[in-house]
Amino acid sequence: MSEVPQVAQDRWVALVAQIEEARRAYYEDDRPMIDDLEYDKLFNELIALETDFPILQTQDSPTLAVGGVVGEMFAPVEHLQRMYSLDNVFDDDELNAWFARTEKSLGQVPSLLCELKIDGLAIDAVYEQGKLKSVATRGDGRVGEDVTYNAAFIASIPKTLQASLGVKVPELIEVRGEVFFTNASFDQLNLEQSQQGLSLFANPRNAAAGSLRQRIDKREQDLADAQKDAVSDRQQLRVLKLQADLDRSVRRLQQLQLTVHGIGAVSGLEIERQSQAYEVLKSLGLPTSEHFKVHKDAQGALGFIEYYGEHRHDVAHEIDGIVIKVDDIEKQLELGETSRAPRWAIAYKYPPEVVRTRLLDIQVNVGRTGRVTPFAVMEPVKVAGSTVAMATLHNGFEVERKGVLIGDMVFLRKAGDVIPEVLGPVIELRTGDERAFVMPTHCPDCGTELKPETQGDKDLRCPNARSCPGQLMERLANIGSRKALDIEGLGEKSAIAILESGLVQDEGDLFNLTEADFRSSEYFTKDADRKLNESAKAILEQLQVAKSQPLWRVLVALSIRHVGPPTAQAITKVFTSMQALQRATTEELAQVEGIGLITAEAISEWFSEDWRLEVINKWRDAGVRMADEVAEVGPQPLAGLVLVITGSLDGFTRDGAQEAASALGAKVTGSVSKKTQLLVAGLNAGSKLEKAESLGIPVIGLEGFKVLLTEGFEAALNKIEQ
Ligand code: NAD
Repeated sequence: MSEVPQVAQDRWVALVAQIEEARRAYYEDDRPMIDDLEYDKLFNELIALETDFPILQTQDSPTLAVGGVVGEMFAPVEHLQRMYSLDNVFDDDELNAWFARTEKSLGQVPSLLCELKIDGLAIDAVYEQGKLKSVATRGDGRVGEDVTYNAAFIASIPKTLQASLGVKVPELIEVRGEVFFTNASFDQLNLEQSQQGLSLFANPRNAAAGSLRQRIDKREQDLADAQKDAVSDRQQLRVLKLQADLDRSVRRLQQLQLTVHGIGAVSGLEIERQSQAYEVLKSLGLPTSEHFKVHKDAQGALGFIEYYGEHRHDVAHEIDGIVIKVDDIEKQLELGETSRAPRWAIAYKYPPEVVRTRLLDIQVNVGRTGRVTPFAVMEPVKVAGSTVAMATLHNGFEVERKGVLIGDMVFLRKAGDVIPEVLGPVIELRTGDERAFVMPTHCPDCGTELKPETQGDKDLRCPNARSCPGQLMERLANIGSRKALDIEGLGEKSAIAILESGLVQDEGDLFNLTEADFRSSEYFTKDADRKLNESAKAILEQLQVAKSQPLWRVLVALSIRHVGPPTAQAITKVFTSMQALQRATTEELAQVEGIGLITAEAISEWFSEDWRLEVINKWRDAGVRMADEVAEVGPQPLAGLVLVITGSLDGFTRDGAQEAASALGAKVTGSVSKKTQLLVAGLNAGSKLEKAESLGIPVIGLEGFKVLLTEGFEAALNKIEQ
């Protein structure tokens, strides 16, 4: 020990204490106190420390043990064969190092079975002569907790195995698998938790553990006892409560699903490959995964990891990574296990999609249509690959429904490209210093009293649409946005500067801005002689270009509620001038394909305000396009063609590609369906490509798309065959 620096020794002691404490909360109470990511960091630090100073590793170091407990609530069961954990890797380099080690040990490249790492709880089920004998949790790997009684409620755990063609029921088989909740059941479960003011489950695994590790038999007994003596109202009420609790617990159990992914002890069955094991288990009537594949080398395995990294939400349950196993059982035996994990398997962990962070404040934002939205300001945290510090909370009712207080530790979810969402508070970590959010009664930007639009509407709005600076700023920034008039340089910052310098009263004045106006503002000038800076020059130039943008873009720029690009395009196909649109009745608008009554009403309402008509007049006078010239519509060789464009096409923006196809008469839709006749797939095309292929819809790439625009549909199809 003397060669080990004191600081390393102290760190080892501290790490072990922290890891053990985290393990207790996680495995015993199914309520983690820290994030998985944080836990994994501590654990990896401990491994690194013990690798540098092997003498530190005592027999009871957490690095040598399968994490897990055998709680006192359940009878202990000894597994026939040991259950293991898995070693983790977090990136391609670490995985390649594992591949290299494995190849070196075996002296050859092994076939690799790749499968999903299900975010659930490991169980062990023993069948004797085809009859289910016992079900246990993993526990410490040698001894688990007897949950046979509860398992009887889980329909996907078969009570008997069935023989099938070529597969006899073995005398004895111990199978390992994962019990888990589907995403839909997990969300429902957490909704019920939050409705009851209970803390949410951090992840489906903790939820599965919490649901399986309940003493249902004891609850049934308590209920039966209570029923016997229930005379008074209070006693009867207690019966009702016990009954409701029991029903809820049983319902939770019934929703658990099983997927088997391994065999322990077995007699009367010869298995040579892991993949063959899955076929056999399936024919015995056990649920196996649909999503596994054997790859002949590391390259294939990396492809599988990448594919599911992008498609992790196409699976009905949460996955926290990919498990890679050497397929050949003899080679598995050759590689063996450490005291904690097999050497023949590895888990590649994906970045977590639910993390915890501190809710520092709840602020409110006034949107361009006057909607006042509370949003969470959080300690920045990395989730699903990006750093998040803010998330919308939608409205005051939503803040209440989520039960979050300012100062709370909260669960935050961001799944891939999906907008970050605060799920709820970690109630156990409250200190009492948290405070409730109060939705303002008056607009934070202009002081006008906020009102719901209609009675019962959950959203509050600031009625001062014309001159509320918050709304005006958002509207100006919207005009400059890519989906509207695409004015480079006109974003939130310059919108604020334009307003603060008093350059416009409202958006009506925007197209009349002159060099002299910009020169009067410090934000838009540089040097002592107040030359225009690049931002001002860009805005002035782009304002000129924007004037001849198509009518649908002008419509989007007007910030009419519910009118985004697809709606504006649909409307301007029918109403080709601002004047026609202004005259249209709500009923006429609602008849446009794809326009609902709510949008039609919003448009009519928008045009009913005089100041808005003034904005249009000012824009018209400044030369902004107010009509699409119908005569300009050229030949329509693609009329009747329904297509979808996905991925990025070199040389086209997404809008540009759509416009090019629409101008030739094609109908460009947003999602692939049976009606789709062609898919244009650019770089990084995702699930739409897969769907099109599964429906047998022809797919063309960039070159095919250029042919489509110049030579037509037939020629583009021929391009596929070449
Ligand atoms: P693990 O979850 O990383 O991997 C092992 C388990 O994966 C197996 O036991 C098995 O049940 C499961 N699994 C899922 N799909 C599988 C498949 N297709 N094939 C084989 N196995 C599959 O390891 P672990 O030892 O169970 O738990 C360690 C992890 O738990 C840590 O990495 C951490 O993320 C988490 N943890 C967190 C805390 C905390 O405080 N937040 C504490 C302890 C553990």
